[in-house]
Amino acid sequence: MDFQDTPELADFRQQVRTWLDANATRRTDNGHIGMEGEQANHEAKDWYKKKAEAGFACLTWPKEYGGAGLTSLHEVVWTQEVENFKTRDAQFIIGIGNCGPAILHFANEEAKRELLPRMASAEDVWCQLFSEPNAGSDVAGLRTRAELDGDNWKINGQKIWTSGAQYSDYGVVLTRTDPTISKYRGLTLFMIDMRQSGVEVRPIKQMDGGQHFNEVFFHDAIVPDSFRLGEIGGGWNGALTILMSERLAISGIQPTGFPQFLDLVTTLELNGKPIAEDPIVRDRLAAWYSQWAGLQSTNKRMLTAVAKGGIAGAEASLGKLVGAVMNQEIANFVCQILGPAGVIQDDTISPAHAHFQQTVLFSPGVRLAGGTDEVMRNIIAEQVLGLPQEPRADKGMAFQDIPTSSG
Ligand SMILES: Cc1cc2nc3c(=O)[nH]c(=O)nc-3n(C[C@H](O)[C@H](O)[C@H](O)COP(=O)(O)OP(=O)(O)OC[C@H]3O[C@@H](n4cnc5c(N)ncnc54)[C@H](O)[C@@H]3O)c2cc1C
Repeated sequence: MDFQDTPELADFRQQVRTWLDANATRRTDNGHIGMEGEQANHEAKDWYKKKAEAGFACLTWPKEYGGAGLTSLHEVVWTQEVENFKTRDAQFIIGIGNCGPAILHFANEEAKRELLPRMASAEDVWCQLFSEPNAGSDVAGLRTRAELDGDNWKINGQKIWTSGAQYSDYGVVLTRTDPTISKYRGLTLFMIDMRQSGVEVRPIKQMDGGQHFNEVFFHDAIVPDSFRLGEIGGGWNGALTILMSERLAISGIQPTGFPQFLDLVTTLELNGKPIAEDPIVRDRLAAWYSQWAGLQSTNKRMLTAVAKGGIAGAEASLGKLVGAVMNQEIANFVCQILGPAGVIQDDTISPAHAHFQQTVLFSPGVRLAGGTDEVMRNIIAEQVLGLPQEPRADKGMAFQDIPTSSG
């Protein structure tokens, strides 16, 4: 496709640049912007509110739900421009990027008008409650139950790895409403008020020192039927909408670590010589440049699909798979070439504000979140290469008859 802006998009790009110049700080380096904690959340809330007031929040959502009623290409322009600034655009990506599209699609009109504008301006923060201790890649194997009780549903069970649950006002929760039919057909999706007494959130401490995700326990938590997303038993459809949005959202912001690596090797010296002269570094630089350039082309292919009115497909899985692995490998390599300095994670003295040290500790999680490497490979094998589907031993069985390790 032609990657020149149309006159309308060029005009929009100019508006975005002018507004960002007046309201955000330009990036002067490729350093890491911390993603966690109350302080980060306050900053992000202020930022989202400002964006919403200026009409730049949730660009593709309809105006009546707090969006700007624009196209995916406007969203692309925003993403390209905002990359040059230090903002907290990605802070509430799970709510806005994942839960938002499912609510737009499946919630009733009253809920959409009430909840979406507050989500778009981050007045309310949302989380996604899918994974359980025994249901991650195979999320349809989940066991959290929802039972109808008058006009309400009662939820009991446990979720895990729920990002941002400790700050969330609402969540989207996938539950089992009928164990007597196949695992995919017995699921129902709900919105849930996270501030009620039946919801207990326990943060999990990570090896990088942060507390990004949580265990969440439901003890007779109450959800009104008006908070149901889609049909009873239709939860898998809603879940797929969320999972696809998640992969797209992740692939759009998937860090590769390459720009930071390039910056580093053009400025760092080793034994009195520029490190870029070292043959091993040059070899790695060439290999990662090729991967990075391949990802740029794949991204452009996605943009072409979007520009033609389609949706991005399995390319999103490719971007996630290659980018997440590369991000981890680059960080490990840099910490090795830094020698003893590689173990110092202090953003005031470590190169690139300790971006690489921080990445060594968090990047394994990025390879799991939103689908592991193996799950991405399965998607690419089946949906891009047309290889046969994975065999499913539980095909056609009622969920309650699927054998478990406890018998
Ligand atoms: C940073 C982070 C944030 C997260 N945030 C959220 C969140 O907000 N909400 C939420 O619901 N979940 C969240 N998750 C959970 C995430 O979705 C799961 O970790 C992921 O789906 C993998 O599930 P699991 O951890 O149970 O691993 P498992 O599914 O138990 O996998 C274990 C291993 O088996 C492999 N494996 C599994 N199935 C197959 C297969 N069919 N073929 C080949 N290999 C296979 C996997 O690749 C992996 O190596 C988050 C995870 C992380 C790391």
